[in-house]
Order: sequence, then structure tokens, then C-alpha cells
Amino acid sequence: MSELHALFGGTFDPIHFGHLRPVEALAQQTGLQRVTLLPNNVPPHRPQPEASAAQRVAMLRCAIRDLPLFEIDTRELERDTPSWTVTTLEAWRTERGAEQPLGFIIGQDSLLSLSKWHRWQDLLSLCHLLVCQRPGYPTRFDSPDMQRWLEQHLAQDIRQLHQQPAGHIWLADTPLYDISATEIRRRRHQNQPCDDLLPAAVIDYIDREGLYRD
Ligand code: ATP
Repeated sequence: MSELHALFGGTFDPIHFGHLRPVEALAQQTGLQRVTLLPNNVPPHRPQPEASAAQRVAMLRCAIRDLPLFEIDTRELERDTPSWTVTTLEAWRTERGAEQPLGFIIGQDSLLSLSKWHRWQDLLSLCHLLVCQRPGYPTRFDSPDMQRWLEQHLAQDIRQLHQQPAGHIWLADTPLYDISATEIRRRRHQNQPCDDLLPAAVIDYIDREGLYRD
């Protein structure tokens, strides 16, 4: 089977176990060999992350220090334009070719709002969508059209993810982590502990930088 590589985009303000643990489980289940973290550029008209782009990348570095599955790609931070996943995937394909099996990892919440993504209908021509469960979100679309689209593209077998470069959706059976970056920022601002929610090396960095404090 060909090597399956996946990209995982996010604001990562900060990265937490709700990002890392489900993706590690997904990798185990699907034979995913490499995951590239893609921190988003947040355009100026949108609410800005509390951490700077450099701090978000530094937190990613702390988080993956002992996790060889992961690497970081900062290309979206180096553009002035919004982080459109479809544009990043097109650039990736131009660099690496059309044949490599490629996944894009999202949580269930992102799947449910996929129809708001720029050119979302083009995504499956560029990648497989690998979906991690996220507690608190329905397992079905409200929209019958979106639910039909999902069912039409569901992979029946993990081998399809390795044998074809793109085109399938994999709903992974991943452990549930009821964690969000919003909750971590809220706890920090209220001086509450969040030791169980993110790696100790990231907490140390946050402490050193005085992040997420009033
Ligand atoms: P915020 O609370 O600031 O909106 P977040 O915790 O949702 O942030 P993001 O960086 O926006 O994190 O998420 C990046 C990706 O990770 C998205 O596809 C999202 O669905 C997924 N994700 C985030 N948290 C979880 C979680 N606890 N379980 C599964 N997937 C998650």
C-alpha cells in the first residue's frame, strides 16, 4: 500500500490533547505515517488569536517534541491571504504530485460546517477527509443534501485511503476529548488549572510567555 500522509489545519491557540490524541488514534487505525500540522493565518478582519503566529508555532514545536508522527508546515502563516484549505491542497499537489494518497484531518464540528468552506466541493478531488469524533456534535448533517453527499463518499475500507490519492471520507472511531482552545484560554484567564488538557511542555511555554492572562 502507498504511504498515506495527512495535513491537519487549525488555529492551535493553543494546541491541546483534543487535537493530538484523536489524531494519534486515527494514525494507528488507518496506518497514517505522517501528519503535517498547518497553523492557520487568521485574516485581519476576523477575531485574532491571542497568541501571535510565532507563539502558536512555538507551542506546536513544544507539543510534538517527542511525537515523531508530526511535523509543522508554516506556509499558511507566510501568506497575506486567508488560509483556504483548498488553495493549500492545490499547492501541495503541485509540489508533490497528484498520485500520493493524501488526507486532510478535521474534527466532527468542522465536517458539519464544511459547506461554508471556500470551494468545499473541490476538496475531495485533492484529498481524503479524515474525520475525528468530537463530543457535543451531532453525527449527522441537518441538511439531507449534505448527508447524502457524505454517504456517497464514505470509504468502505481503509485500503481505499491508501490505494487512491483522494476522494473518500473516513469517519474514524477516535477517543472523545471534550477540550477546546476556547476553554483553555478561559481557564487561564480565570487562573484555573488546565494540566490535563494540553502537554506540560506547552503549559511551560504559555507560563514563560505570560500567555492567556489578563
Ligand atoms: P477554538 O476553541 O479556539 O475555536 P479549537 O479547540 O476548536 O479552537 P482549532 O484549532 O480551531 O481548535 O481546531 C482545529 C481542528 O481540530 C478542527 O478541525 C477541529 O474540528 C479539530 N478539533 C479541535 N478540538 C477537537 C477535539 N476536542 N476533538 C476533535 N477534534 C478537535
